[in-house]
Amino acid sequence: MAAFIELSDVTRVYGSGTTEVRAVNGITFTAQQGEWIAIMGPSGSGKTTLLNLIGCLDQPSGGALCIGGTNTATLSRSELARFRSETIGFVFQQFHLVPHLNALENVMLAQYFHSMTDKGEALAALKQVGLEGRATHLPSQLSGGEQQRVAIARALVNDPKIILADEPTGNLDAENQRIVFRLLSDLHAQGRTIVMVTHDENAGKLADRRLNLEHGRIRQNLTFSAEENQDFDEVLEHLWTRTEQSTHIESHDFTEVQWRRLINTMAQIGLVTTENGKDGFTPKGYTRARNVIRRHRLAERLFRDVLSIQDEAEIESSACKFEHILSPEVTDRMCTLMGHPEACPHGSPIPRGECCTSNRLPDTADLTSMMHSIKRA
Ligand code: ADP
Ligand code: MG
Repeated sequence: MAAFIELSDVTRVYGSGTTEVRAVNGITFTAQQGEWIAIMGPSGSGKTTLLNLIGCLDQPSGGALCIGGTNTATLSRSELARFRSETIGFVFQQFHLVPHLNALENVMLAQYFHSMTDKGEALAALKQVGLEGRATHLPSQLSGGEQQRVAIARALVNDPKIILADEPTGNLDAENQRIVFRLLSDLHAQGRTIVMVTHDENAGKLADRRLNLEHGRIRQNLTFSAEENQDFDEVLEHLWTRTEQSTHIESHDFTEVQWRRLINTMAQIGLVTTENGKDGFTPKGYTRARNVIRRHRLAERLFRDVLSIQDEAEIESSACKFEHILSPEVTDRMCTLMGHPEACPHGSPIPRGECCTSNRLPDTADLTSMMHSIKRA
């Protein structure tokens, strides 16, 4: 599947010679349809420039930008304008409403540029942002939050696939920020692709993914959320079982695209290699895979042998949870308590741990700490 938004080494240079500014300096990234991406970074790092490029309000000085399979560089000015009005809805920090037009007319203005005006649709868009009762108010008669909601209705009225928002809550109080983020969440749930510039850490967390800009470049992300780490573990487990000659391959439910993206990220942080098109472990990745496989298989034994759970699916799903939360100490205690089992319930080998060679005998602390971690899960 081709990416929905695809930037390859995109640059945007302002000025020349001594006044040259590389506002966007070689950015490569892809977004899938329906993804919500937050662009973050200090003032002047190129966020607005990048958003304007994606929105076709501006054109790259170099590199390629494709949206929905269309290379935007191949479009004429008028084609670009049409493409933009059909594909993209904008929300700005300054609401950019026309002061002498009322809320409804401001929304209909976007339709006018697109094709035909349709009062019913414009009213429906206002309703979607909860402002059907303010249709005849002028911007000056609306609060900041309401003005931004009118701007969102205007962005929505042509039913765009992509919503671009540049610090949409930068001028709003906390309550209205919440309302705007809730609206964006709704749009995301409807399957729209959202690219949003924000300073707000919490808003950034709403997004599927964050890009941190610094001096026109994407700053390498070196810290990952618990969910991302769990995804890495799943990839490692799958790769591990592929190297075993066993019949039981740990399944994963990533799409091909998600898998490739994970592998790329994991290659960047030194967990896997992709040499000759084959995914393999680095030494660091090997150790991490070994440990997660060990935790997973010990947990399976625990659920089957100690807790007498018979249901395969339940054992599997509990083990998947446990493999992420067991500390090395608890893992070793669990292993010791069960007498250092050598194979999982399917017969695949359990990688040995330090405890397996130290001959320590189980004690009651093992049982207690194990029970604690079961309760926590
Ligand atoms: P951000 O949105 O992250 O604050 P911008 O994309 O607005 O950053 O700006 C990135 C850099 O490009 C800044 O150094 C800014 O001064 C410069 N820049 C932005 N627009 C222009 C322009 N039209 N002409 C010259 N320089 C510009
Ligand atoms: Mg900006």
